[in-house]
Amino acid sequence: MPANDRTTSGWSRRGFLTATGLGAAGFGLSLPARRADAAPRERRTASNLIFMVADGMSAGTLAMGNLLRQQIHAKRSSWIDLMHNERTVRALIDTRSADSFVTDSAASASAWSVGSLVNNGAISTLPDGKPLSPILLTAKEAGLATGLVTTTRVTHATPAAFAANVGDRNLEQEIASQLLDRGFDLVIGGGARFFKGLPLDAHRVIRSRNEMHAIAPDENERILGLFTDSHMHYEVERPDSEPSLVEMTRFALRNLSKRKGGFALQIEGGRVDHAGHNNDPAGLLYDQLAFDDAIAAAAEFTLSRDDTLLIITTDHGTANPALTDYTTAGAAGFERVHAFKQSFEWIDAQVAQAPDRSANELANIVNKATGLTIRDTEAELLARWFAGDRTVDPFALANKQFGPLGSIISNHTAIAFLSPNHTCDFVELTALGPGSSRVKPHMAINEVHKVLRAALDLPGAKAL
Ligand SMILES: [Zn+2]
Repeated sequence: MPANDRTTSGWSRRGFLTATGLGAAGFGLSLPARRADAAPRERRTASNLIFMVADGMSAGTLAMGNLLRQQIHAKRSSWIDLMHNERTVRALIDTRSADSFVTDSAASASAWSVGSLVNNGAISTLPDGKPLSPILLTAKEAGLATGLVTTTRVTHATPAAFAANVGDRNLEQEIASQLLDRGFDLVIGGGARFFKGLPLDAHRVIRSRNEMHAIAPDENERILGLFTDSHMHYEVERPDSEPSLVEMTRFALRNLSKRKGGFALQIEGGRVDHAGHNNDPAGLLYDQLAFDDAIAAAAEFTLSRDDTLLIITTDHGTANPALTDYTTAGAAGFERVHAFKQSFEWIDAQVAQAPDRSANELANIVNKATGLTIRDTEAELLARWFAGDRTVDPFALANKQFGPLGSIISNHTAIAFLSPNHTCDFVELTALGPGSSRVKPHMAINEVHKVLRAALDLPGAKAL
């Protein structure tokens, strides 16, 4: 890695292009020839930032996502592929927050956004209650175009912390107001319910995949995409009316790259975390693959030019899932996930409508969703749990969310989950592009902010 990548003004375009050209081979891309009349570098080392978050992605999720990609598509995942690019820099991130070894998404995303550790639940607001300018607001004031893409509600913790300030992540109505008032260029995801009654007239509002695709490439208005009332669907059961994460990613890159002044864009695969909480292997792995498709699009964009910093990471582990069987039964179990058609949320909704929630009824619902035939003893445990018995599993935490359902499915897939909670694990960060050499092998999560800020040559987060 050339050391000249480190300074704001002395960064070498030639060095970067040469090295990227070698690295781009994995994606089969050819790079544009260096323009002889290229202007001298601007003050920023990168014109664009793409910051990608697979929310709540434990190391086992990354590994199993890669395995599933190999089984289904006979190639490694795009994230792993990018790690083989010689220009890529990697780090392990310590995600602890100001008040907990185990962070939540609000505290982690705030640390990226403002550069300080905050308490769990706080959105770009310090433990003393002081709000700091979130990075998209700072970027907007510096003349960059700004965007948020997520599969959760756009008011959910991760996108919120890049754009808003509230003491409590649950104040999503207030977050929605701030998203509108602050005038970001592109905000797309779920969460229409928090925008009801708010003035949307300054925005081009889109409500479906078709409406998104109908927008002209050079649309210059502020775009607000609200595809669902709450979170968008898991990829495993996503309806055609909702765009996939890679479609949203391509749309955002096309739109923001046509606006003036460079851009800062956060892209979140937000429901990897939810599936982890639910101990739901199909929800988890298909959303991880959807995120990986988005990585391919972002990497293609980044590798085709020399002015974009791409960072791909997660905010914490969730539930630390793993394939945990040494024998061929493990491989056979993992392959059973290919046939899963529905998430645990879908199972829960079906159970809610089942007349008597008998063991037999529950076994049939699980079969419809997964293709699995669970044992009678498993169906009886499930009936007890759905009837309200929260002591089915001797590990008390494991009775939360859909723990017992997850454990029963584990018997058939060999994919086991630690708990329904976040974990303190160090997490992966992968970076590529101008400014990436500031990434160190092991960093506290708020130190990532300095990498973003220096790459875009932004001032520090100011008190609001
Ligand atoms: Zn979570």
